[in-house]
Amino acid sequence: MKYHIKRVDEFDLKDQRVFLRVDFNVPMENGKITDDTRIKETLPTIKYLIEHGAKVILGSHLGRPKAGNKKEFSLSPIAEKLSSLLNFEVLLMENPTGGEGFKNILSQLKPNQIILLENLRFESGEEKNSQDLAMQWAKYTDIYINDAFGACHRAHASIVALPSFVSKRGMGFLIDKELKMLSHLIEKPDHPYAALLGGAKVSDKIGVIEKLMDLVDLFLVGGAMSYTFLSAQGIPVGKSRIEKDKLNFAKEMLNRVHARDKKLLLPIDHVVAKSIDNLNDVKTVHQIPDDWMALDIGPQTQELFSSELTKCKTIFWNGPMGVFEKEPFSHGTFNIAKTLAHLKATTIVGGGDSAAAAHICEMAHHMTHISTGGGASLEFLQGDRLPGLDILRNPRRS
Ligand code: ADP
Ligand code: MG
Repeated sequence: MKYHIKRVDEFDLKDQRVFLRVDFNVPMENGKITDDTRIKETLPTIKYLIEHGAKVILGSHLGRPKAGNKKEFSLSPIAEKLSSLLNFEVLLMENPTGGEGFKNILSQLKPNQIILLENLRFESGEEKNSQDLAMQWAKYTDIYINDAFGACHRAHASIVALPSFVSKRGMGFLIDKELKMLSHLIEKPDHPYAALLGGAKVSDKIGVIEKLMDLVDLFLVGGAMSYTFLSAQGIPVGKSRIEKDKLNFAKEMLNRVHARDKKLLLPIDHVVAKSIDNLNDVKTVHQIPDDWMALDIGPQTQELFSSELTKCKTIFWNGPMGVFEKEPFSHGTFNIAKTLAHLKATTIVGGGDSAAAAHICEMAHHMTHISTGGGASLEFLQGDRLPGLDILRNPRRS
């Protein structure tokens, strides 16, 4: 039996109350949204629902609110932003379940209004996948649509318990796009195929490295992760960040790469500093001195990686090449992003920080796809089942 997830355009939506789970977990500073990509990415689904006469109820989490600091995590700035993007009235409910009289509000909803529930994590049952909480939403939900790809790896009440009570359930256009793009990386990708990996830790990425081992022709490794690999080969890395308990994994991986006639390239020069906060003392070296730490790949490594990437037809990028948040250590990441941007290859970016880096250097719109789900995209690629997708699957008759 084949399994199929229904997409929003496969439902009859007229006058139906649609609970749309979105991922509006956007970065904020002092109450202002600093990157609205996640909001913009859900607009196609929201617009489709509006155009087809649905009564739209949006639900999202934001951050990790604890009791007492609710104001800071209110969706109020998001309601405002959404309203200006859609040119629609967005009614923010104070209560994440809608509260008393919500059915009445819904029945009187005007055609130019949609509803946004307050931060779902204000309800303690959300993260506990509470059936009772989900039942409160289910009472007024005719159709449940999930478009929150970035939250699909979490078994929370609005992701798993709620759709289990609603027989008409499916996905929005964003999840559909994510699944198509990420599937391309594991099903018949064009070769040569490279994985460009970086970021903070080897340990975060072991699952995906294991999976990619059978798929890619080439690994290019930068970021903090590369110093564990260099150290595993006995190359001095000074005070660079390494994971001692992953040295054996790194060694074993290097052996497996060679046994399979694949390539794994590591940085050949580095931008180093005495500490991450000492920006006056930054230099480029081929050998990392004892008291220094490597915080970015150097210009020769950028050239080496770029010339390899130029030969590829498929590239998966996860993890920045250095501490891109600080200008002196941002060049490696931004220059590699520029290289990717100018290629004809399929370029897919996964990982929250890599996506942020691509946006900051204004290369994001040149990539084939930037996943909106950091953790969720890695879990999907490494073959884990995402609970939020599993619950949407219905057997296909044929
Ligand atoms: P992603 O979110 O794209 O999966 P990660 O979360 O794994 O990426 O890693 C991002 C972090 O890695 C960034 O905050 C960056 O500063 C850090 N990082 C990258 N290179 C280094 C390095 N050489 N030393 C220390 N930290 C690094
Ligand atoms: Mg990250």
